[in-house]
Amino acid sequence: MQRYEKLFINGEWVAPHGSGFTSVVNPATEEVFAEVANADLDDVNAAFAAARAAFPAWSATRAAERADWITKLHAALDKRRDALALAISQSMGCPLEIAKIIQVNCVSAFKKFAERAFEMEVEKQVNNSLVVREPVGVCAFITPWNYPLYQLIGKVAPALATGCTMVLKPSSVTPLQDLIFAEAVAEIGLPKGVFNLVTGRGGVLGDAMVTHPEADMVSFTGSTATGRRIQRLAADSVKRVCLELGGKSAFIITEDAPLEQAVSFGVKDVMINSGQTCIALSRMLVPASRYEEAAAIAKQVAEGLKVGDPMAADTYVGPMSSMGQRDTVLGYIQKGLDEGAKLLTGGLDYPEGISRGAYVRPTIFRDVHNKMTIAQEEIFGPVICMIPYHTLDEAISIANDSVYGLSGGVWAATREEGIRIARQLRTGGVYVNGGDFNYDAPLGGYKQSGNGREWGDFGMHEFYEIKSMQL
Ligand code: NAP
Repeated sequence: MQRYEKLFINGEWVAPHGSGFTSVVNPATEEVFAEVANADLDDVNAAFAAARAAFPAWSATRAAERADWITKLHAALDKRRDALALAISQSMGCPLEIAKIIQVNCVSAFKKFAERAFEMEVEKQVNNSLVVREPVGVCAFITPWNYPLYQLIGKVAPALATGCTMVLKPSSVTPLQDLIFAEAVAEIGLPKGVFNLVTGRGGVLGDAMVTHPEADMVSFTGSTATGRRIQRLAADSVKRVCLELGGKSAFIITEDAPLEQAVSFGVKDVMINSGQTCIALSRMLVPASRYEEAAAIAKQVAEGLKVGDPMAADTYVGPMSSMGQRDTVLGYIQKGLDEGAKLLTGGLDYPEGISRGAYVRPTIFRDVHNKMTIAQEEIFGPVICMIPYHTLDEAISIANDSVYGLSGGVWAATREEGIRIARQLRTGGVYVNGGDFNYDAPLGGYKQSGNGREWGDFGMHEFYEIKSMQL
């Protein structure tokens, strides 16, 4: 049993004022394998006090100095890649070999923020005004469990680069990679108070963090329900709020697209990380004329994916991140059946050969109508809704008929046609003809998928203020 008894506040590992521990459960085995200390509100206050005290000196550092710290921290993280992958895999079920890529490769993207630090020294003369950038201040960060390291780095890296200080609270489902990150921070001796970590439950610590008088901005990734609440709470003190929330992304396959390639891409896109990807293309929109053909391909691809032990090298689909999430996903599968959708593959039973753990069979519903609950609500599991359409305009209108606007996909005969369709989707990102994920591209949502952007050059914007001096 791994036991983490301390919090990382003001550059030191400190015993919490709070009491008790939160168990970290391996969803593949349902066994507790780690315990993490519970912070309380005094600990939150201590963390914000440290971040506030560190802000004047850290925000006054030159970009070159912050770039050096980011480079050092990157090296300290890079040598912890295996530990990070294992911690993530054990706590949320992503297969280890896949976790090394989709969960941990963001460490490489971290180091690019060393270059981005120099963006803060770009000044602009506008007539008689000098326009400069200054860090937004002390940041409160709250992250979820599905890509816990990626979400940490997407916030912490630009905050360091801009000269902000911060208090971070990871999901209590997956706190371990954050503790490893703090070990790296401690190892390089980052100035005290710049990075502070508290662990514990969001329901206990969340309100105090997002309303904290010392917090200048809040960046939250998680469900739309919690995001809404955070925005309301932070409004009283008019904090800047950056929200990366849920999605229900549509993937339009056109009549003349290479069907086998497109459907296979769409199925694997959703099933990776057991469907717990906010940008997963969970609604597959297929021309009615090619529906049967597409359904046959989708079934074959889904049934060919190995489901099972996250430690096995050939596993593609591990368990859900928790038994609670399994229940949620099974609830949606039942709802789909109740609403008249037909199972093409998968369903409510455990995958073959598995009788415990948070596993859900890769599931594809056919004959789905976009008004069904399973087509409107984010399931956050290995579940695809195949929706037929008759004209491209109808497909675009179905794609946009969602309260969410995080991501989308198109596979068309040509890239130009794909881009033409992509421009009509009201989403923060679109994957055209199987384009690769890009860590340097901004990520964020339209509509109820949130506001603000993370990653890349655009991901710096949330973390600075603009000052104009009239000369
Ligand atoms: P969640 O319940 O909203 O939890 C996210 C984080 O918020 C966790 O750290 C959680 O802590 C904390 N939290 C819980 N209650 C809180 C409260 N009252 N005040 C403040 N913080 C609170 O979401 P989730 O179910 O863990 O995450 C999955 C969701 O995140 C999905 O909807 C997914 O689409 C979304 N997501 C979006 C993106 C994106 O970039 N747009 C990326 C990944 C995930 P505890 O875990 O300790 O309760």
